[in-house]
Amino acid sequence: MGRFKNKVVIVTGGCRGIGKAIVSRLANEGAYVYALDYVLPKENEVFIEDESIKALIKCIQVDVTSESSVNKAIEEVLNDKKRIDILVNNAGITRDNLVLRLNEADWDAVLNTNLKGAFLCSRAVARTMMGQRSGRIINIGSIVGSIGNAGQANYSASKAGLIGLTKSLAKEFASRNILVNCVAPGFVLTEMTDKLTDEQKSSFLGNIPLKRGASPSEIASVVAFLASEDSNYITGQVIHVDGGLAM
Ligand code: NDP
Repeated sequence: MGRFKNKVVIVTGGCRGIGKAIVSRLANEGAYVYALDYVLPKENEVFIEDESIKALIKCIQVDVTSESSVNKAIEEVLNDKKRIDILVNNAGITRDNLVLRLNEADWDAVLNTNLKGAFLCSRAVARTMMGQRSGRIINIGSIVGSIGNAGQANYSASKAGLIGLTKSLAKEFASRNILVNCVAPGFVLTEMTDKLTDEQKSSFLGNIPLKRGASPSEIASVVAFLASEDSNYITGQVIHVDGGLAM
């Protein structure tokens, strides 16, 4: 019997990368998990081998930048399960460029997905969590939201914005026992970082005291902690999971 048995969880961007690891981890511990994603796996096929865990996971199409799409997806979860215990705002994109070459469309796309998306999803679950007098919202930020990064002004600004959103929601929702925290990874081995050049990768890795990138499951285990009863007295915090990169 897992820690999250009968809990209802929503993970945005849940069909690959870090999101997929979070979905697997929480379903492995007994939760019903809704993986909301822009592109769903082929023929809606759930991407986890184990049949008993697969039965706990459902994929729903969403565009987190669109209010109507987000509200429709959350409505579908509520029609199914009537409650929402945990929301993980994980969907995120990069459109890297130096500021002088960064165009408006790439600024807007990153801010709309990474920051506005988290706001829309949090707002869409808030009434339900308030009524339940319990809930967890976990935002997936990035260490660059705290330390900045040349070539990632849009991405860093979106992740810094997520810190402000996390703390504001934590203050606004605390009286209803809804805890809101942010997990800020450093360098994680996913398709997002696969796009970097070898030079960028080795520069990142060279600066990490632990001398390696994280696996997605190492991010998922911190999310599981913040989603669990073990963190009942933690809210409004940003936890860096970065091998010591941002000290
Ligand atoms: P991936 O690119 O592997 O996955 C991102 C996911 O977000 C995809 O499933 C993608 O969907 C989904 N997504 C993008 N846009 C939308 C949208 N408009 N609506 C719904 N879903 C969308 O990234 P990672 O797993 O690496 O990153 C996950 C999170 O972790 C992001 O927030 C990222 O910023 C953060 N992060 C990652 C780090 C890393 O080193 N990888 C470091 C620090 C933070 P689809 O595939 O359908 O397009």
